[in-house]
Amino acid sequence: MMSDHSQDKNKDVNRFGYETTTSIPEDAPLKRNPGHKLRTSNVIVNRAALTDEKQLLDSYKLDRMTGQKIQFVSEGNQIGVIRLSEGEEPAPAPNQFTGPSYRNPPQRFRFDGHKMMHHLDRVMAWQKGERFAPIHIDMGLTKFCNTACIYCYAVVQNMTQGTMIQRDALLRYIDDCGRLGVRSIGFIGDGEPTLNPALYDAVVRAKEVGIDTSMATNGLLLDMSRAHDLLKNMSWIRFNLSAGDSEGFRRVHQSKEKNFELLVNNIRELVRIKKENNYPCTLGLQMVLIPECFDQVLKEAKLGAELGVDYFVIKHCSDSEYKEIGIQYEDYLGIEDVLKEAESYSTADYVVQAKWNKINAASESALYKNGFRKYDVCHGTPFLLQISGNGKIYPCGPFFNKERFYIGDLHEESFYDIVMGERYWAVHKDVAESVDVHKDCAVGCRQDYVNKFLWDLKNPPEHINFI
Ligand code: SF4
Repeated sequence: MMSDHSQDKNKDVNRFGYETTTSIPEDAPLKRNPGHKLRTSNVIVNRAALTDEKQLLDSYKLDRMTGQKIQFVSEGNQIGVIRLSEGEEPAPAPNQFTGPSYRNPPQRFRFDGHKMMHHLDRVMAWQKGERFAPIHIDMGLTKFCNTACIYCYAVVQNMTQGTMIQRDALLRYIDDCGRLGVRSIGFIGDGEPTLNPALYDAVVRAKEVGIDTSMATNGLLLDMSRAHDLLKNMSWIRFNLSAGDSEGFRRVHQSKEKNFELLVNNIRELVRIKKENNYPCTLGLQMVLIPECFDQVLKEAKLGAELGVDYFVIKHCSDSEYKEIGIQYEDYLGIEDVLKEAESYSTADYVVQAKWNKINAASESALYKNGFRKYDVCHGTPFLLQISGNGKIYPCGPFFNKERFYIGDLHEESFYDIVMGERYWAVHKDVAESVDVHKDCAVGCRQDYVNKFLWDLKNPPEHINFI
């Protein structure tokens, strides 16, 4: 065992008359470095004596200061060390790490960023000017819904009762995605996906052809007799829920209060089936943050823990280019404490996280707050495509129904041919060349993080070889 030592023992006045303090422990192996003296002396720690594994472990103790406590933290197969001053209690570490680590386990989901570095083959194809399949597609399965959330973006995009992509077209499209090498599809956007009865078969088929799937749903009309198909084959299911009690549910989702109970029971049952069968599907809740649900944040954070879901994420509300939802981003400034408190409910098995990057846009200058981007060109659409619930393809959700950017219809053409064809690439080129992202686009669109990454890649700083 190494002993604690006193800093004072290491205090000295050097040969120039200046006070110096080292933290070399008294029991550290030392050696003299002949010739070159440091400002202290020419005595240094003999690192060669610390090379075997056991001694390396001991070296954690070597530079422990007086009264300092060492906390070993393990996450996965990593062991980390946190040094605590005398009397200091372990505190949550500031989020300085962008990836998951023992200090930052919530980042295992990376809600507030992108994962483009894991798809560099597509990035290189793009850099070489080749044609390539999207990495991910967000896709609506219907253009109508059974609730009426007061923040719903889809409302500005012609929701139409009864309109949905038809079963044959959907399954053919899934097969084409498999052939093309699309890596994931999220049944997200436009109307409620569970209103399309082909959802369940599409999920099963996607797994068979090697595509990861996910879904965002209000959860009220889930066919629980197909729960095993969903949980066995999907990567994640996210419940759109911006309330923690039935009164908030009625207010924000404009649905009957008794539906809150129905949803909670569905989620509880899915959690049970998942756990019993050890299915890998992640189950989470997502709140779209608007002033009308500020009072629901903590209630929902507690509800998520009680239900046993894997996460509760809180995101900003994306307003349209005409700001038809009327979001004042300054309103977010007053709720930071509540969001932090909600995050403190995280445990090893339950992540509560706010998407700070976008919520904090409220403290940006008026220019950025109102939609100005930190890049000038949108290159993201061929990597992250969005398809409307009626089977029509556009480069992105905010451009649904803008005929200039219409690419094709899955009822009329195969997706494989569309991606290999001229029109598809002409539209992406048109987006990159003619869209003014500062004025023509929704605030903080889905491709925003990806666009920032691609912009940096396209516009390198000087001296890039000095990494
Ligand atoms: S930046 Fe504009 S064009 Fe590009 S994906 Fe976002 S909304 Fe669409």
